[in-house]
Amino acid sequence: MTIGIWVLGDQLNLAQSALASADPAAARVLLVESTSVLQRRAYHRQKLVLVWSAMRHFASELRTAGWRVDLAERESFGAAVRDWIASAGISELRVMEPADRGFREAIEALRLPLPLHWITSNAFLWSREEFAAWAQGYKQLRLELFYREGRRRFGVLMEGEGKNAQPLGGQWNFDAENRKPPPKGLRGPEALWFEPDAITQSVMLKLQRIDQERAESGLPPLPGELEPFRWAVNREQALAVLEHFIVTRLAGFGPFQDAMVSGEPTLWHALLSPYLNLGLLHPLEVIRRLEQAGLQQQVPLAGLEGVIRQILGWREYTHGLYHWFGADYPALNHFGADQPLPQSFEQLGGSGLNCLDSVLEELRSNGYAHHIQRLMVLANYGLIAGLDPQALTAWFHRMFIDGHDWVMQTNVIGMGLFADGGRLASKPYAASGNYINRMSTYCKGCSFDVKQRHGPKACPFNSLYWDFLARHAESLRRNPRMGLVIKQLDKLPAEELDQIRASASNHLQCCAAGR
Ligand code: SF4
Repeated sequence: MTIGIWVLGDQLNLAQSALASADPAAARVLLVESTSVLQRRAYHRQKLVLVWSAMRHFASELRTAGWRVDLAERESFGAAVRDWIASAGISELRVMEPADRGFREAIEALRLPLPLHWITSNAFLWSREEFAAWAQGYKQLRLELFYREGRRRFGVLMEGEGKNAQPLGGQWNFDAENRKPPPKGLRGPEALWFEPDAITQSVMLKLQRIDQERAESGLPPLPGELEPFRWAVNREQALAVLEHFIVTRLAGFGPFQDAMVSGEPTLWHALLSPYLNLGLLHPLEVIRRLEQAGLQQQVPLAGLEGVIRQILGWREYTHGLYHWFGADYPALNHFGADQPLPQSFEQLGGSGLNCLDSVLEELRSNGYAHHIQRLMVLANYGLIAGLDPQALTAWFHRMFIDGHDWVMQTNVIGMGLFADGGRLASKPYAASGNYINRMSTYCKGCSFDVKQRHGPKACPFNSLYWDFLARHAESLRRNPRMGLVIKQLDKLPAEELDQIRASASNHLQCCAAGR
């Protein structure tokens, strides 16, 4: 009797529940590097290197911990698992419940010839059942209530005991202090990066072979630059990134977390999401360490609370909602948006809009852009240009180093595009060039004029924004949080609105023609 444990690529933690359910002496572990995933999704090169290198490093970590480990490099993961079951004499298979719904469906569809046990995931703070029990109590789900419950439940940044516990500093949320525009010359601290070791280099060679095979088969190249690859690929390095964040960025994290600066892709951002999402770090250990270090160093509470809210609040919330909303959620399209993605999205550059091109260029070079670049430049453009929500969600999933199905469904369909009609966000996060001008340095280097709303030099974010409001005015009018902007729309002279909408249409036609 040999228990088989199949560890998926985002479950790379020695304490994960399937491993914890077995004794190393009576079990064998399988990891599979499958290239067939590329038939469905052409992932960013650095994302593939990160996941495969992290899996290889984890295999080595498991062996050091006494596990017998097999790492299979195959085209199809189904064939790899079947062969392993036969050759290793596996009598029972255990898999930790995947975070992404599609993995479980794909594994069940294999109809493997042995008992398959799904082990409840311990990768998040809230189990799906706990989230469902919380969500059932509300007609309208909102992050702030969930976050407060998380603070109480896990005793984070609280003072006092039991029912008398209160948020540290007397308030739950310091967001208003964390939205400062970038002053001239703003520069963030250096991020911690790593040189590829021998394992990572071997994965990079594999990527070059894959690229060559794709070219020979007439397939388009994979997106993104392969080099320089500088991400952490094992737990030790991921922990070093956490400590580096604490030493160099935690104290300054708050004020400029929404700022966007040309040539400064990381600013004070923690850069922990790729490692949290692969399991190299557990969210609770990160939260506890941040809280302990932040209080010890007496960093400003606004920044400390802000970063903890992203992990204890937003990350847990979007994961919980992904499972709570269910399998129909990904197909939602509230505004009936159907524009194809512009070529510049697939090519990661070349739009001619300095804000878009700055973010796409950063994405091309390392698979990363921070949350405001994602929400207020990329997704905002998708929302006001009426891009197909399913195509844009799949694009985010493929291109971002930390992108997974559970991450992108709620963040793009819900938060970014309001394609769920408000199940997640209370209003569409649509913004004109004004917002980008206030919060970034992009407009100064742009060939468009952020002050103009129509005409050949007009900022496309302006024309698309008003066109979006006009297109959906009747449905937006019913949203109390959109009242002010709809009033502004109503005040626009009809002739000017026509000119604005003509500019928006012209921009979309140019995009469709690849100009
Ligand atoms: Fe972007 Fe418009 Fe600013 Fe150009 S002017 S950078 S298109 S917001």
